[in-house]
Amino acid sequence: MDTLPYDAQHLRHLAGEIITNVRELAHAGWTPATSSNFSRRLDDRHAAITVSGRDKGRLTEADIMVVDFDGKAVGNGKKPSAETLLHTQLYRRFPEIGCVLHTHSRTQTVASRLYAPAGHVRFEGYELQKAFFGNTTHEGAMDVPVFPNTQDMHELAAWVEAALDAQCLWGYLIDGHGLYAWGRDMAEARRHLEAFEFLLGCELELRTLKQ
Ligand SMILES: [Zn+2]
Repeated sequence: MDTLPYDAQHLRHLAGEIITNVRELAHAGWTPATSSNFSRRLDDRHAAITVSGRDKGRLTEADIMVVDFDGKAVGNGKKPSAETLLHTQLYRRFPEIGCVLHTHSRTQTVASRLYAPAGHVRFEGYELQKAFFGNTTHEGAMDVPVFPNTQDMHELAAWVEAALDAQCLWGYLIDGHGLYAWGRDMAEARRHLEAFEFLLGCELELRTLKQ
């Protein structure tokens, strides 16, 4: 039998962690209609990622696959999500990043539509800005990019690279689509994801109340 190019026991551990966390996100309504995808860094060349098109509230170990950092499947015939490249570009660029979470909540989707013309959403003066690693104060502004949606993942990945060159980021929106958030491990990526969701919800509510 060929030896696998990754640690199968570590994969099983990460798959269990993905399944538990994603079930909670699915129950919160952030992964409608089999959308969204989730990954963990497996080592310095591989990531574990959810297989395309599965119900995220009912994932099993068979729904987690291994890809290399070019987004190609490793070791089986499963089909990675078209958006795999948006995960692996982060693992390739940042050795410290260990988890990428992509969701399609209603709040994220509505905010992406509303702020797409401006190209970003600005968070300013919120205590919860401290939830993002490296932020120690509510003072200062945080701009979250909103990229146009496209089915061309190489084009989208290039826009993300340019944004990462320009600023420190823990997430971005895609117009009419959803949110990407990441962190050094699952707990940090979830904290960032939840902070984005909460702050976007606040901005939307303020817009309604101010009308
Ligand atoms: Zn998506």
